[in-house]
Amino acid sequence: MWRGWRDVLDRQGFASAALDAKLLTGHGLGLSALDMAVREGEPVAVEAAERIAGLMQRRMTGESVARIIGEREFYGLAFALNAATLEPRPETELLVDMALETLARGGRLLDLGTGTGCIPIAVLANRPDVTAIATDLSAQALSAAQQNAERHGVLQRLALQQGSWFEALARPEPIFDLIVSNPPYINSDVIETLAEDVKSFDPRLALDGGPDGVAPYRVIAAQAAGWLRPGGQVLVEIGHDQGQVVAALLQAAGFGQVTVHKDLNGLDRVVSAHHV
Ligand code: GLN
Repeated sequence: MWRGWRDVLDRQGFASAALDAKLLTGHGLGLSALDMAVREGEPVAVEAAERIAGLMQRRMTGESVARIIGEREFYGLAFALNAATLEPRPETELLVDMALETLARGGRLLDLGTGTGCIPIAVLANRPDVTAIATDLSAQALSAAQQNAERHGVLQRLALQQGSWFEALARPEPIFDLIVSNPPYINSDVIETLAEDVKSFDPRLALDGGPDGVAPYRVIAAQAAGWLRPGGQVLVEIGHDQGQVVAALLQAAGFGQVTVHKDLNGLDRVVSAHHV
């Protein structure tokens, strides 16, 4: 039921042709991977075949399987996507690991530019003692985050607030123990050179880090201390070549113990800093 499409995708040069064909066929039929295996030999109704062909067409224009299906797994949880959100990426799981290590009992977390809400929702799902606020400029992104928080049972501990960076917050707010962000960090000029699925289907607002790619880190470095308790920390995801510049921004803003951390691929991925 999916092998023919595997061959079509394969001929078009898709590296993950078999997996893509299987996942999209399963989605078109409303079947799990297990059901797909069990019902492998069964004929497919004409409408279902047309539906599957439509999904494959979208894949052939470069749209990712996760966007076509409308969700992606992150930290063992499924996250709904929409046109205003990026797909949660496995690299970002490092930020969640570090946040879980950093937060003491009853910790208060702020996530700036939350998108699908993947970072705070993964933290809250693993830590019933923690509460969080998540912000985003996009109301549409926040509606995906709300849906995801409900789905994973953490909405009572997550406040979703719309606005640009810290402007989404209003005094008096709780002071946070930890501020995290995986902000847009791609140099505006570089976006056009990215892979087709990123360039054409990912929301530009979620990618564009300004002319030098680090504009959001400037805002975070300048304002985070005002929202942290003494000894509180900042953890930001970065592009692999931004470790030194982002560390320098945080140091210049007065943060201490500024450290660049590598991901599993050995690339610079997270910068941590302490509010002293
Ligand atoms: N914080 C969200 C994530 O990690 C959104 C990232 C973004 O839109 N730049 O997926």
